[in-house]
Amino acid sequence: MSLPRIRLELCSRLDGEGRWRLDEFQARHLMKALRCYEGAMVEGLLGEGKGERILARVERSGEFFLLRTVDVKAEERDPLEITLLIGLLKHSQFESVLRASAELGVKSVRPVLCERSVPRPGARETEGKMSRWRKILDEGTKVSGSVFAPDLADPVNFRDVGWDALPSARYAALLSPAAVPLANVDARAAGELVFAVGPEGDWTDSESSVLLGSGFVPVSLGRRILRASTAAMAGCAWFRLSAEHELQRCHNT
Ligand code: SAH
Repeated sequence: MSLPRIRLELCSRLDGEGRWRLDEFQARHLMKALRCYEGAMVEGLLGEGKGERILARVERSGEFFLLRTVDVKAEERDPLEITLLIGLLKHSQFESVLRASAELGVKSVRPVLCERSVPRPGARETEGKMSRWRKILDEGTKVSGSVFAPDLADPVNFRDVGWDALPSARYAALLSPAAVPLANVDARAAGELVFAVGPEGDWTDSESSVLLGSGFVPVSLGRRILRASTAAMAGCAWFRLSAEHELQRCHNT
């Protein structure tokens, strides 16, 4: 059983002594749901700067719970940085994509309002959703022990995606006979890549043309048509597992 995990950005650092004051929400969760106790060890995830993983002991100070640092490990650089460009989906589907993205160590999630995206949130609705979505990403990192939560960009219209700024290794999930099976794509050496998945209603022809014209390799995820959320998770899982396989192979040779 691994140690309970805490996001340290949500706690307050008590100056210079390697102590943190737990925020109320995480303290309650730790004590009530995870049945943690004074003296127990927890793993703190700090996604600031280069990232740190901290081993800490739970202490009590009056009505507060503190964490006392026992050991600090600098986070190793992730050899794979995935940017997921995804048509904005209905809430439950989009939230599943966020959870999986955090667990699979996606670097950045960029929701795109496509012509056939079902949700059309206004600015105020988006603002409210963004904080809920960021919480979901944080929770996902606690499940998986990822030090960094994916960055979440504000949703943008398809025509406003800054194509030039995207990583040069580009793959788009397309339901097209010309799409290359994802398993035949060798993205292991890419390091940084962008994976694009359409909305529930699929890309329009003109969106597909823009993707192809912007250097995206069309990839297929098999003969079955997947929900957009399943497609996003399947693709990201494939890239992540291929990278881990490569890492293992390098360690063994
Ligand atoms: N509603 C549409 C399917 C949309 S699938 C229909 O019934 O035809 C939503 C998105 O998931 C697609 O735009 C594509 O990016 C991705 N996708 C789903 N299944 C896929 C597959 N087998 N290969 C490649 N991309 C796929």
